[in-house]
Amino acid sequence: MGKKKSSRKPPPKAKIIVPLDTQFNCPFCNHEKVCEVKMDRDRMVGFIKCRVCLEDFQTKINYLSEPVDVYSDWIDACEQANQ
Ligand SMILES: [Zn+2]
Repeated sequence: MGKKKSSRKPPPKAKIIVPLDTQFNCPFCNHEKVCEVKMDRDRMVGFIKCRVCLEDFQTKINYLSEPVDVYSDWIDACEQANQ
């Protein structure tokens, strides 16, 4: 008898967890992946510095902040400075 099988697809494989990116493109010298973020979670401060043009920036972080948040704060600050 034609019992209808519900053809369930297997769930997608869990994504491989990649380490969080801590290297970003520099908005000043436009080199790729030259800005390195350091998270000082004791002082709740994130630092980012370009190792090519040596531009740097620091911003407040919280326990949820990721390196990319520091970077986007930097980009925001750059855009505000340009206005
Ligand atoms: Zn740079």
